[in-house]
Amino acid sequence: MKRGALALHPQLATLKATAVRAAAPTVKITHAERVVDSRSGATKGDLVEYYARIAERMLPHLRERPVALVRGPEGVAGEIFFQKHGEKLRIPGIHNLDPALWPGHPPMLEIATAEALVGAAQMNVIELHTWNSTTGAIDKPDRMIFDLDPGEAITWATVREAASLTREMLELLGLESFLKTSGGQGLHVVVPLRPQLGYDEVKDFSATVVRHLAQTLPKLFVAKSGARNRVGRIFVDYLRNGRGATTAAAFSARARARLGVGVPVAWKELKDLEAGDQWNIFTVFDRLAKRRVDPWKAYWSAKQALGPALRKLARV
Ligand code: ATP
Ligand code: MN
Repeated sequence: MKRGALALHPQLATLKATAVRAAAPTVKITHAERVVDSRSGATKGDLVEYYARIAERMLPHLRERPVALVRGPEGVAGEIFFQKHGEKLRIPGIHNLDPALWPGHPPMLEIATAEALVGAAQMNVIELHTWNSTTGAIDKPDRMIFDLDPGEAITWATVREAASLTREMLELLGLESFLKTSGGQGLHVVVPLRPQLGYDEVKDFSATVVRHLAQTLPKLFVAKSGARNRVGRIFVDYLRNGRGATTAAAFSARARARLGVGVPVAWKELKDLEAGDQWNIFTVFDRLAKRRVDPWKAYWSAKQALGPALRKLARV
């Protein structure tokens, strides 16, 4: 059955209005009936409702971080706009950050409230991508991300294996890591850091980790990007760790068919994961209801120093 048909059900329509009103009472939603994704029949109203319902879970991942917005006024099949600044956007509750945080650029944006998140969805924002540092220490990343994609000739089982080995490598270096689905095709391995080192140092560290994986397991990993190097092997992308780089935030919907959602998972769930877009804006709430404990509970307090890992890596 098409979601559009479901949306017309009067009882459901009331539910939606309630979720949005509760989370963002001042935001007025227009064109809720517009179809955003014809594959699932999802409407703008569905997406707005998703962000209203997920706000409480998602906002901790957004607060205090510059955010880039992926807008799709014509839905996922239409033209997509990636926006790092807010000149052309008037989103209620959205916060323009101090322009000094990125000299020479217009102010960056922060989404810190349910109002701003729902307001963004009302302005056709589909995805939200964040920096690896927060406004309090903008030059010092408080996390490092390894992006695993199933490239050409890579099976999903290989992506799972690569994620697990990336974790083990980080563990050897004394670093705890956390896993999320990207909501798209792959997986993200996230390492929370104490904000001590600069972007260049963190990025160099992540590059060294990837090179080391490639040297140790050359049949599985490749350290160089580029299509030819990658056939049948995984390039773990560390380029998300540079200054100004962004990655889709946990719980961001993705501007792709079926509106997948990036979801934090526990490492012990890895063996059962089926795809990066295993959960979408409709199905994720079932998962959250069944799994009451946050699989990333330890993420919030795991502020890890990179120094000891740097020294270990220099020795291996
Ligand atoms: P998948 O699992 O499917 O690979 P992903 O989230 O890992 O999904 P992409 O959505 O392909 O990867 O995003 C690639 C990177 O490029 C992200 O870091 C994102 O923030 C950034 N990005 C996406 N669109 C733009 C754009 N138009 N301009 C600049 N950066 C962009
Ligand atoms: Mn990816």
